[in-house]
Amino acid sequence: MTQIFAVTNQKGGVGKTTTCINLAASLVATKRKVLLVDMDPQGHATLGSGVDKKSLQHSLYDVLLAEVAASAAVLKTDPAGYDLLPANVDLAGAEIALIDQPQRERRLSQALASLEAQYDFILIDCPPSLNLLTLNALTAARGVLVPVQCEFYALEGLASLMETLERVALSVNPGLQITGILRTMYDPRNSLTKDVSAQLIAHFDQRVLGTVIPRNIRLAEAPSYGVPVLSYDPKSKGSLAYLALAGELLRKSAAAAPAVN
Ligand code: ADP
Ligand code: MG
Repeated sequence: MTQIFAVTNQKGGVGKTTTCINLAASLVATKRKVLLVDMDPQGHATLGSGVDKKSLQHSLYDVLLAEVAASAAVLKTDPAGYDLLPANVDLAGAEIALIDQPQRERRLSQALASLEAQYDFILIDCPPSLNLLTLNALTAARGVLVPVQCEFYALEGLASLMETLERVALSVNPGLQITGILRTMYDPRNSLTKDVSAQLIAHFDQRVLGTVIPRNIRLAEAPSYGVPVLSYDPKSKGSLAYLALAGELLRKSAAAAPAVN
């Protein structure tokens, strides 16, 4: 069955988009077929995949409003090798446009149903808020990946995120699972990083993924070339970490992940 992951955290700048692009590319490197869905009106996943967000023929906005079939909006990325459902600032209007539509939280789920069979993995890059776009992602997903930067305020937003996940699991998506909390921009020389990491493990136990993504300048540089780090600097620490994450998720996909409730 296709693994569908929402990569979410309502905090911005924690590594959601970086994780989506580089995990997608790493899964492709293991010969998996991958679709990346850009669910953020900022279009960073689109840009970082080497696609010009200003000249899209169709975008996720058109798909969510059922103006075009999802397959018509999907693009191939090169050299990364995953498929992309791109987005741009138009997507910011989706919440208003869908406001009086029935089942407006199921639009993405319905759109992906026709595509799902073509892919082993679908990754959904969420915006930094708990809005209708994120709700669509959580309704379409089977698992949730939560990138967390190990800094002082990291734990603050997690409680409300977990409440949201529970609400979604109790209402629209009973199968939803927390696949894992991913520690990003990890700096082992920083004692605060280690403290917050220990707190995450104390709170969330085996839901914290074993793979840690280090702070690595190559990961920050690659998007300006429109490629994943695996294409830009395959031997970098960032590349190796995201390959390890792909490996961990592939192993985990065989075993059952802990349920949201
Ligand atoms: P989000 O999608 O959660 O807003 P991003 O993935 O865009 O976060 O990351 C925020 C910023 O941090 C970006 O400039 C990105 O290049 C940088 N970044 C992300 N992960 C790392 C990392 N592991 N090491 C160094 N820089 C990173
Ligand atoms: Mg982002």
